[in-house]
Amino acid sequence: MSGISRNTNYSRARVILFLGAPGSGKGTQSAWLSARLGIPSLSTGDLLRAEASRNTLSALKLRRTLASGKLVSDSMVCNAVRTRLERELPSNGIILDGFPRTVAQAECLDQILGQMGLPGPLVLHLDVSREPLIRRLTSRRQCPSCKAIYNLISRPSSKGDLCENDGTALAQREDDTESTIVRRFTEFDLACAPLVEYYSAADYHRIDGDRDPELISAELLDIAALQQERAAA
Ligand code: AMP
Repeated sequence: MSGISRNTNYSRARVILFLGAPGSGKGTQSAWLSARLGIPSLSTGDLLRAEASRNTLSALKLRRTLASGKLVSDSMVCNAVRTRLERELPSNGIILDGFPRTVAQAECLDQILGQMGLPGPLVLHLDVSREPLIRRLTSRRQCPSCKAIYNLISRPSSKGDLCENDGTALAQREDDTESTIVRRFTEFDLACAPLVEYYSAADYHRIDGDRDPELISAELLDIAALQQERAAA
């Protein structure tokens, strides 16, 4: 258990996972749930983009992988998540947005949780039909500073091109271009069915992501709150 304090009380800690295609609303919904439950959310995409912005050769390589829409290697992502969980897992748990994306990563996560004496994850799968996703992704904008997500069509910033939280100029992600989006869908389609199969015997919930975001949020909160009640009982 490298880096973990053995006295840390994880008795109420639970890891919540978001599965879903690019643009399915994982980032928005996990940020919302994080605020409502008062538990942090960790996006592996944000983690990797931060790593890629450094001025090193490996960062440049990573930047190219991200811009291509390909998945980063399992070992790199697993190491980053392991380091983060072992260093600072809050006592009430954490939300993982965008991890695991392959069965190998899911197995790695189970191993990490097992070593930390934590229960298996609560898995929330946002299932969204494909057609609206490309439009949603090409109109997505993000604050490079606080990571808040906006959408030019469905959720524009009240400050125009600037972030409502901190006034930073909003940016389009380098991988939110149409050709890269197609590649990211392909990667997701290859990995999704085996992952859903992997979690079929677990605490897995498929959520209809084609509804209003408010309805989706309400269902997510119900599921997570029920699970928290059970853990506290
Ligand atoms: P996201 O912000 O979740 O859409 O992720 C953006 C990009 O980061 C993906 O297209 C991948 O290149 C990379 N990435 C994020 N999470 C993972 C992961 N769990 N495994 C491999 N690559 C990832």
